[in-house]
Amino acid sequence: MTISHDTSGHAASPAPNPLPVDAARAIIRRAIEPVEMVERVALRAALDRVLAADVVSPIDVPAHDNAAMDGYAFDGAVLAQGLANGRAPLTLVVAGEARAGHPFERGCRAGECIRIMTGAPMPAGCDTVVPQEFVARTGQNVAFDAEQIARGANCRRAGEDLARGRAALAAGRIVRAADLGLLASLGVAEVAVRRRLRVAFFSTGDELRSVGETLDTGCVYDSNRYTLYSMLTRLNVEVLDLGVVRDKPDAIEAALRSAAASADVVLTSGGVSVGDADFTARMTATFGDVAFWQLAMRPGRPLAFGRLWPAGRGASERSALFFGLPGNPVAVMVTFYQIVREALVAMSGAITAGPLQFAAASSAPIKKRPGRTEFLRGVATRDAAGKWTVTLTRSQGSGVLSSMSEANCFIVLEHDQADVVAGAPVDVIPFEGLM
Ligand code: AMP
Ligand code: MG
Repeated sequence: MTISHDTSGHAASPAPNPLPVDAARAIIRRAIEPVEMVERVALRAALDRVLAADVVSPIDVPAHDNAAMDGYAFDGAVLAQGLANGRAPLTLVVAGEARAGHPFERGCRAGECIRIMTGAPMPAGCDTVVPQEFVARTGQNVAFDAEQIARGANCRRAGEDLARGRAALAAGRIVRAADLGLLASLGVAEVAVRRRLRVAFFSTGDELRSVGETLDTGCVYDSNRYTLYSMLTRLNVEVLDLGVVRDKPDAIEAALRSAAASADVVLTSGGVSVGDADFTARMTATFGDVAFWQLAMRPGRPLAFGRLWPAGRGASERSALFFGLPGNPVAVMVTFYQIVREALVAMSGAITAGPLQFAAASSAPIKKRPGRTEFLRGVATRDAAGKWTVTLTRSQGSGVLSSMSEANCFIVLEHDQADVVAGAPVDVIPFEGLM
């Protein structure tokens, strides 16, 4: 893989044409190879894992025709007679009872019906259930209006949910709550999933102090390792926190090499701005193929992307994908969600539709220059009539992490979009489900 593109600007010489977000995503997509190793895990351990193969249903679900309501099962052919009788109610004799787990063993004969409870197997000879609310019962007789019920009503068919021999879940699916239940409904006790992606990360900066240390003058606490830890953990990848690395060539090189030796993906934050890139580029020249991008996006303009070979550039052995994220805390989160996340999901072997996005009315005008994608922080609310409106958070500074806490969505202003007038629709990506 060669990480290059026409507009690749070296950060030290500001790029005249910053790379559009979609172009960056396309380059990254081409570099992706999903993890191959497969392991078998017990059903519960499959939650949030990626299916390595289709799960073919070994049974019909439901396994047999069964009642969808409490009522009386009968042969729906008699409905035609009932209708022919005009207004006269149809009368049947209750011949027995079927409950969930307790089928009625013999078939149902002409003129008979069977008292049946939801989930009970349909007795032989029955295809319709009349709900109990529709009947008048006198002793062993039930009478009801044939017009109120259609043949086949209130009967769930065998295999209606999942047919035996068909793929119930496809390879590449991330197993969520419904899927876990679905697998259980098939009697599946073990699932083949891809091994979890290993992602190593560290922060760079002489000014960074870790939680628990004293904050010296001019220093800041390292928050990026905590947002990265959280975002990665939510993606259910294996996380390797390599701590803080000082802005020293030897230290950064050693950290990058050791990260690449033990992980599939290496993420760093900081040290990719103009000036820093030269410095890091020198580090990666011997063991990486790294492009320093000026992205046409805000926040998150500087980004490094490429591949690292711990044993030397282009070595055939293992390599790791590398994302050098900006240092500013909001830019880290935005680049993670807008650029890195999709890559990690694909490397995990997952096939997804991506995050939900919908339109909301902007509560105020928003200034926007065409030629870059902006990811603003917004608070979306729904009024009583169901209409969504979105308002910008108080600050949009790329260092103001409280704006991410305050927000509940990204507002996406596309590359070519210009100023937004108040009330105009804008795209929002909700944090719920994403974070
Ligand atoms: P840099 O890209 O390294 O120049 O960093 C840009 C800004 O982000 C600076 O103000 C840094 O202090 C800040 N920053 C960098 N890394 C971190 C971090 N891990 N946690 C909090 N702030 C950071
Ligand atoms: Mg720095």
